[in-house]
Amino acid sequence: MLASVDHSDQSRRRMFKTLLWVTMCFGVLFSVFNATRGLWLLVGIEVIYTLLSLYMLVVVERTRHLRALTIVYLIPFLGVMMATLANPNTSVGIFAWIQTIPIILYLLLGLRLGLIGSILFVSLGLYLYTQHYAEKNPSDSLGFLLDIGMATLAITIFSHTYEHTRAQTEKRLMELISTDYLTGLANRSKLTEIFARERAHAQRNDTPLALVYLDIDHFKQINDRFGHETGDQALRHFASVLSQRLRATDLLCRLGGEEFAALLPNTTAAQASAIAEELRERLASTPMLVNGTPMQMTLSAGVANLGQDGERLDELMNAADKRTYAAKRAGRNRVVSDEALALG
Ligand code: GH3
Ligand code: MG
Ligand code: MG
Repeated sequence: MLASVDHSDQSRRRMFKTLLWVTMCFGVLFSVFNATRGLWLLVGIEVIYTLLSLYMLVVVERTRHLRALTIVYLIPFLGVMMATLANPNTSVGIFAWIQTIPIILYLLLGLRLGLIGSILFVSLGLYLYTQHYAEKNPSDSLGFLLDIGMATLAITIFSHTYEHTRAQTEKRLMELISTDYLTGLANRSKLTEIFARERAHAQRNDTPLALVYLDIDHFKQINDRFGHETGDQALRHFASVLSQRLRATDLLCRLGGEEFAALLPNTTAAQASAIAEELRERLASTPMLVNGTPMQMTLSAGVANLGQDGERLDELMNAADKRTYAAKRAGRNRVVSDEALALG
């Protein structure tokens, strides 16, 4: 789902910018510190990385390839970290930085890459420790390795759990904002999102795309006769009857009130009219039981097509809405795909 990706993107973009700022500040501090100790190679690397972070801060604002850019940045970032750990002239305290790996990778890359990257780079970091320090101080080494290993494992578990919960919550929220609470169908915002995707697909593959506008006839009378609660039940009945006929690739959504729309990919004008006609018949022949008494519902529908009626969703909606209105004027319980014909 697009909206979900967008949201994740936003929070990851912010996280990435935070990392860039932190790297820049620490890069300046470390290069001054290492210069005083005469570690000129490290100073050079840190200056280059500080400049790279500065450049990335500008690029990250407008990139559409955030994940790729993040990986491009993180590989040398972790490479430099590993090179620093491998340098026998640095102090043992440098290994404390291993603990930042899981949190950075999970927050920037998500669950899968976070887990793989953490296992890979944390293991490499600990291996470098055994190569450079364990032999020099065998008495301290096991305790240190255990401490840093356990602390990093704990941070990995917390990061994993946090990212998992965050992703689930985000998914649920995205479902809620794109779903109509009463019928469980998609809502108008979901239709807008799916329409953009289906239009791009139709234009790329030169396939048809149809939109059917559906309006329940005399719905106000249902509310007036049986009450609002039965009216709500009627809306759910309508959604259920129509959903059963449509394909998994079609999108039925509630626009609001007693107005619905069906987006039919890969469907010509003639096919869309036939499907709308079938939906109309099904609804008319599947009455809803109100206190044990069957109550018939009917619909009026208008069909519009990508290309003939416009390229934008609002153009298709306008055309389909006009035809629905023509169906109402022509007596209701009918489908109109050309208002001139409907009006005679
Ligand atoms: P027409 O055949 O011309 O479409 O007539 P209609 O009565 O269906 O249309 P109208 O627009 O006059 O009335 C729509 C009614 O739908 C009015 C409004 O109270 C009702 N309505 C809108 N949203 C809901 C809802 O969520 N639940 C219920 N029960 N009624 C709703
Ligand atoms: Mg209406
Ligand atoms: Mg109506």
